[in-house]
Amino acid sequence: MTLHQIPNTIKTDSHWMPFTANRQFKKEPRLFASAEGMHYTSVDGRKVIDGSAGLWCVNAGHGRKQIAAAVEKQLMTLDFAPSFNMGHPLSFDFAERLAEIAPKGLDRIFFTNSGSESVDTALKIALAYHRATGQSSRTRLIGRERGYHGVGFGGMSVGGMVANRRAFATHLPGVDHIRHTHDLTRNAFAKDQPAHGAELADDLERLVALHGAETIAAVIVEPVPGSTAVLPPPQGYLKRLREICDKHGILLIFDEVITGFGRLGTPFAANFFGVTPDLMTTAKGITNGTVPCGAVFASRKVHDGVMTGPEGQIELFHGYTYSAHPVACAAGIATLDIYKDEGLLTRGADIANYWRDALHQLKGLPNVVDIRNCGLMGAVELAPREGMVGARGYDVMVDCFNTGLYLRMSGDSFAMSPPLIVEKSHIDQIVSILGEAIKRVA
Ligand code: PLP
Repeated sequence: MTLHQIPNTIKTDSHWMPFTANRQFKKEPRLFASAEGMHYTSVDGRKVIDGSAGLWCVNAGHGRKQIAAAVEKQLMTLDFAPSFNMGHPLSFDFAERLAEIAPKGLDRIFFTNSGSESVDTALKIALAYHRATGQSSRTRLIGRERGYHGVGFGGMSVGGMVANRRAFATHLPGVDHIRHTHDLTRNAFAKDQPAHGAELADDLERLVALHGAETIAAVIVEPVPGSTAVLPPPQGYLKRLREICDKHGILLIFDEVITGFGRLGTPFAANFFGVTPDLMTTAKGITNGTVPCGAVFASRKVHDGVMTGPEGQIELFHGYTYSAHPVACAAGIATLDIYKDEGLLTRGADIANYWRDALHQLKGLPNVVDIRNCGLMGAVELAPREGMVGARGYDVMVDCFNTGLYLRMSGDSFAMSPPLIVEKSHIDQIVSILGEAIKRVA
């Protein structure tokens, strides 16, 4: 089979693909057939190294038999159990295991099925908390420019990537945004956390002055924005944001859908930056990407605040048919076992410097305007072609795929996050393929 030749039994018309230029893709589909460890195999039989852990989720690498066995066993034992007013033991075990690795105090766990659901759940919990604690005027939700919080109406509204918002005119009312921290003038090619920009956290004070603190329920940020191509927070920024939230009684939500489960070399970004939010959203790595699952971690303060009213009354009118699905719980527990046995939640710390130094070798290649890194996240940003935003990035991404590297494209940037089992030789390979592609087509 030649490059891109797909078996003619595969018809691509019916599947309307998410976040994809469908018509362009279907002319020349890029399809994976299998995966093992650090690699995919394409349908034309080529090994493609996974530079982005699937979609930031396959933290323990592909094809983990322990997870597959746990899933199979669970399906054959208890395929489904309702989680409204009923339960099954595994969800409680899973929640305890998550609480064990949680940032201190965030040990109350609400299960969802995705990052988007985790975000909407956390936003609703924040509103419910304020109402239950007599602060009903706190209804305003604050996001940040360039943030990505999934695609539900809540997450879309607090999100700050214009393409995800403009086609859908109806946003939640009362949402506002603080400024983003991406500053190429002062911070281009900074290694790890950039030096400049902690003062941007003060933008929250501007919104407090504009709207009144008593109207603001919560601020949600990704500790390291991922989908907008990895923007490590300026030194001191997150601590300052925490202080301003505390000063004004505003809940702080960290969206750790990407940064959770070892991505920065600590279990969560909250550990890495030494800043603890009131609520934390997770998904993706929670089951190593195998079975859809998400979880919101809540502080005791928030959880206990909502646990009011008569004992026989439902405290939070919220949940999903598949919250705490037994198969997801089984996959999640097996995943946590692997993370623990192989030390993966902290492994990133050992190899992060190698990752950083390797990525920064790409400085000086044509049209490379920035390189960023934090833990095992990294990004290379290219200048857009005149009047054709995204075209240069697309060409480089396709060239990489053709020469054996999968990576996540975001406009003209590449966001990278290899599985946490990555070895130095894999890093060399990722950087070399990307570098050659940039030289060839950028
Ligand atoms: N929040 C963040 C920070 C994300 O990166 C993502 C997905 O990439 C989401 C939320 C949405 O997650 P999902 O696609 O599982 O709904």
